[in-house]
Amino acid sequence: MEGVSEVLMNIILLGAPGAGKGTQAIKIAKAYGLQHISTGDMLRAEMAKGTELGRRAQGYMQSGQLVPDDLIIAMIMERFDGLGQKGMLLDGFPRTVAQAEALDKRAKVDAVINLTVPEDVIMTRICGRRVCPACGGTYHISRDDPKICRACGGELVQRPDDNPETVKKRLDTYLSQTAPLVDYYAARGILHSVDGSISIEYGFMKISAILEKLKNR
Ligand SMILES: [Zn+2]
Repeated sequence: MEGVSEVLMNIILLGAPGAGKGTQAIKIAKAYGLQHISTGDMLRAEMAKGTELGRRAQGYMQSGQLVPDDLIIAMIMERFDGLGQKGMLLDGFPRTVAQAEALDKRAKVDAVINLTVPEDVIMTRICGRRVCPACGGTYHISRDDPKICRACGGELVQRPDDNPETVKKRLDTYLSQTAPLVDYYAARGILHSVDGSISIEYGFMKISAILEKLKNR
């Protein structure tokens, strides 16, 4: 195994739901020794603990809306307080220009990676997804058995918000609120677009090429 090359960069990963952002985030954080900060994971943890923040966030997420800026910014700033000297990979934050402005007051952003995938590909990806509640395994009806978990034999289910209506709403919300971020960072010359529709490996290869170039700058 190759050694981790730790870098002190702050990277933002942008991408619509279903673009493969979560998978790429885990790979990038591992390869570059970055602290992976996922607002989705943080919100799910708050919901599981039944906190006030979790309950408020749940209502918005279930109806396909974005959680309001003030809730997200407060949660993220508290998380930043606990970080040591390490580069960050931000996944799910910022989602709006207001959040980006709050981030600018707190940290320098070195690069923004925008994973792009056409809408029809996203619909097929998300609506065909099945998960195993027992072990957390994720499958897709295009290449896996649609009913039984390969790993543990559990019965697979479709997540309630992985249906076409909710996905369409999530995509529309994403485009109207998050797409302005693309312009925001493009204007600064730190935006890099990567085609996320080909494969995870291809996307990761392209992202690595961008980060290697930054590292050696
Ligand atoms: Zn399973």
